[in-house]
Amino acid sequence: MHLLIATTNRHKAAEIRALLAGLPLRVDTLADHPGVEAPEETGATFADNARLKALAYNRQTGRAAVADDSGLEIDALDGAPGVRSARYNGASYPEKFAAIYGALRKRGARTSTARFVCALALADGGRIVFETRGVVEGEIAPAPAGAAGFGYDPIFYYPPRGSTFGELQPADKAAISHRGRAFRALRDHMATNLRPG
Ligand code: IMP
Repeated sequence: MHLLIATTNRHKAAEIRALLAGLPLRVDTLADHPGVEAPEETGATFADNARLKALAYNRQTGRAAVADDSGLEIDALDGAPGVRSARYNGASYPEKFAAIYGALRKRGARTSTARFVCALALADGGRIVFETRGVVEGEIAPAPAGAAGFGYDPIFYYPPRGSTFGELQPADKAAISHRGRAFRALRDHMATNLRPG
């Protein structure tokens, strides 16, 4: 079976390939389908966006398509950046981090509880056939730390490890991350439902 992973983000593609390794699947990414058009992410929730992306890519390619929509929710900022994580204030991540620390200071906070969320949807035959949500709870670090990973990893402090996600090796991060949890649930679903041949 062919499975299309609906991402152009190299880091996410590598994380997801590793999480699905060993299944009898041929995994493509959007890089293998250059003509395909990205839908607008107009959903109000991570789940809405995951569904609309999975359906759009399934429709355009005829392949079973899995899409995820993910981001960081900061409690002291009423859940921002949330579904706007990729577009939040500032072109670069150091600018986004500065905007977050500035917004926290304005509210009299130096840190906050926070979580990464990953909504995942699998579309096949024009409909959603599997959905799940992975979450990892943590805190905003007092200052960015670590150069591993991507996006908000350097400011996401994970108390059980005493480090930020930016300080974790990729396999360590995948074992605990929101995306790791969501894609392991997909892996279990596929392992149960895939028929050999
Ligand atoms: P998406 O590609 O539409 O799901 O947008 C996700 C955005 O949320 C990314 O561009 C990052 O800013 C942020 N994000 C999602 N997952 C992670 C992660 O594992 N580490 C750091 N940032 C993340």
